[in-house]
This record gives sequence, C-alpha cells and structure tokens, in this order.
Amino acid sequence: MLNVAILPHNHSFASNTYLVDDGNECVVIDPAAPFPASGLSKKLKYIILTHAHFDHMLDIDEWVNKSGAEVLVGAPDYRGLSDSELNCYMLLTGQDRGYSGEATKVYDGDVFQFGKTEIKVLSTPGHTPGSLSLLIDDMLFVGDTIFAGGGYGKCCFPGGSFSDIRKSIDKLVLLDGNITVFPGHGEQTTIKEYKKDIFR
Ligand SMILES: [Zn+2]
Repeated sequence: MLNVAILPHNHSFASNTYLVDDGNECVVIDPAAPFPASGLSKKLKYIILTHAHFDHMLDIDEWVNKSGAEVLVGAPDYRGLSDSELNCYMLLTGQDRGYSGEATKVYDGDVFQFGKTEIKVLSTPGHTPGSLSLLIDDMLFVGDTIFAGGGYGKCCFPGGSFSDIRKSIDKLVLLDGNITVFPGHGEQTTIKEYKKDIFR
C-alpha cells in the first residue's frame, strides 16, 4: 500500500516535498523540506528531482548526507543542479548556491524501482528543459509542469519553452483521467479535473 506524505518545510517558496513509501522502501520527490528529525522508518532508495530549480532542492545536501540515496535528475537539467543561474537561486536571492554532489541523469521512459513499486519517468519539458513527471501507480508527480485549477509552469526561466510545455501538457492529459496529480506547488488534482479546468 502506497503512502504519500507532504513534509513540512521552513521556507517561503511553498514547494511541496513528497515522501512516497510502499511499505518496504521509500523515495523523496523534491527535497525542499528538512530530513525528518525522527529519521525515516524505511530505507530511502532515491532522491528524485522533478526539475533542477533551487526551490525544489533546498535541502538536497542534508538528504544526501543523511541517507546516501541516489539522486535522479532529468538529463537536460543536470547542469542546473550546480549552476545558480540555471537553478534560479541567483535570480531570486542574488546568491550562488547549488548541489555539486553526484546525480544520475534520467530520460523519458526510464523505469526505476523502490520496494515493490515502479516509477515510470515521463519527460515533460517546458518549465525547464529537463522537467520530469513521475508516474507511481495511479499517482503522477509533475513538478511545475501543471497545477491544480488548470495552471501550468512559467516558461520564462533559463531553458524554458512555451511550445515545449504545450506538448508536455498534451502528453499528460492523454493519461488515465483517474490519476491523481501531485504538483510541485499547491493542491492535488486529477487528470480528469485538470482537463475540465483548462477547457473551461
Ligand atoms: Zn520551478
């Protein structure tokens, strides 16, 4: 049985950090909240970034240091891990900050496993060139590609592309309507609701 928790954070960027636990192992999606003080009850298999913007990886160093788990990032966003122009930290705070540890580049169609659960990687560029959506059972973690209410991510940051995000949205709305969507900011929705919202 899959369990999803949104971890409490201590910053003003309101990015969601999801901990997904299948009863055997767990993964964290977008480490922008501190590693839980009480630790994790299951082994952390992966630290996955929906995209390499700083507000989705504020606590990545702590997660890597405390868990030793492998970091997964969309290949075109790899440079953004360490480059504060690309990950927008410089733009928003005027400071140079990034992640310079190891990470594995992932691609559209890749499948990863934690516990007995599969993670299917969908490449959904537009907000960033390496933005990913992660399908885990009937749950889709979309980062800043789409938001509840019919919204979608800004394309004005480095490497963003409006024509790419349009294609990515076209790809996501073809998925099963009952899939629950977990965005990088804000509330959850479903594919069915999202489609209704954008055509309203
Ligand atoms: Zn972003």
